[in-house]
Amino acid sequence: AKNVKKYTEMSKEELTAELASLKKEYDKYQAMEMSLDMSRGKPCKEQLDLSMGMMDVLSSNSDLACEDGTDCRNYGVLTGIDEAKELLSDMMENNPSNIIIFGNSSLNVMYDCISRSFTHGVMGNTPWCKLDKVKWLCPSPGYDRHFAITEYFGIEMIPVPMSPEGPDMDMVEKLVAEDESIKGIWCVPKYSNPQGYSYSDVTVRRFANLKPKAHDFRIYWDNAYGIHHLYDTEQDYLIEILAECKKAGNPDLVYKFASTSKITFPGSGIAAMATSLNNMEDIVKQMNFQTIGHDKVNQLRHVRYFKDIHGMVEHMKKQADILRPKFEAVESIFDENLGGLGIGEWTKPKGGYFISFDSMPGCAKQIVAYCKKAGVKLTGAGSTYPYHKDPTDSNIRIAPTYPSLADLKTAATLFTLCVKYVSAEKILA
Ligand code: PLP
Repeated sequence: AKNVKKYTEMSKEELTAELASLKKEYDKYQAMEMSLDMSRGKPCKEQLDLSMGMMDVLSSNSDLACEDGTDCRNYGVLTGIDEAKELLSDMMENNPSNIIIFGNSSLNVMYDCISRSFTHGVMGNTPWCKLDKVKWLCPSPGYDRHFAITEYFGIEMIPVPMSPEGPDMDMVEKLVAEDESIKGIWCVPKYSNPQGYSYSDVTVRRFANLKPKAHDFRIYWDNAYGIHHLYDTEQDYLIEILAECKKAGNPDLVYKFASTSKITFPGSGIAAMATSLNNMEDIVKQMNFQTIGHDKVNQLRHVRYFKDIHGMVEHMKKQADILRPKFEAVESIFDENLGGLGIGEWTKPKGGYFISFDSMPGCAKQIVAYCKKAGVKLTGAGSTYPYHKDPTDSNIRIAPTYPSLADLKTAATLFTLCVKYVSAEKILA
């Protein structure tokens, strides 16, 4: 076992000496003039290469007809081709008749849902643009681009604390029951961004049983990481929310989103939504004006490449083989360099794209700034909270997927150095 002493238990002299040696070490890194990026949750090149076979399944000789004879090259089929619904229904654990296939981005679909609610309302309710106030619950830390959408629409965001079980449901239940201006909540229920938490069965059931005062309240259930496991044997399991809502007598409560962005190609994948038939009817009404149909050739390409959900599951195992060593490298460097020092905590997800780090209060911005000065870019401190306001300035999102393993190890080591440096300075200040 390592012989370490907590920073807060060191004498002033001990910590001053520690700070001096950290500074020397930091100067060495600065002299290296690195340029590394641990900020965005993008797949690395090797992951993208895994899907190159998808480029070969269609060629100029291919028959681009669906099973029902529809020519995928032409206009039409607004809600997506049947075989794509079949594939995505297995991926999302929903009935194909509850699925709409969209374009390449689920975030785009979420934006459109909010936009439509503002201009036309949800299932006959008053359009939100005619209301004095629209509010939204934001489990935090959360996904910065979710918060960016609600901020863009001028929606007042209310942070809700997260735990390893999911959002604070006492708070969620109370707020939605009391306040009619609360119209939605952002959820990343499985391998959440950024903590990698998966909602417990109790949390999912409490969501399904919510009694919102607003009839047009919807849960935005963004299951972006539904099949993105890192391990074969240890996988998080989530209760299916649509079925649970139906059982609870709340069939229209949820919009569930997913995409193949981090399965095949972000930017050239397919996005989908699963929801009740009532909600679908409401949404399709708008879609009729928005488009004559999304990219069916890409839908067909995905189906012919994977064939069925088993093909997708096998593919995700290859993704995991690339990502697992990266997550484990970060975790072991954190353990090795920060374990027992009492200056930070981090999550150890079994899937998804991120690790979440919490520093001592008041240190996150400075840690990110020190990393940047030494050539390692991190997601901005605060960006995991609505309005970029992290109340304790402690959360930092680590994105281990994009850099090479070697670069990642260097970046993670520098990160731990910066955490120690800033924490020592803070305690001595
Ligand atoms: N939802 C979450 C939680 C994400 O982390 C991301 C990407 O990082 C997205 C959605 C983006 O999805 P898409 O590429 O389908 O727009």
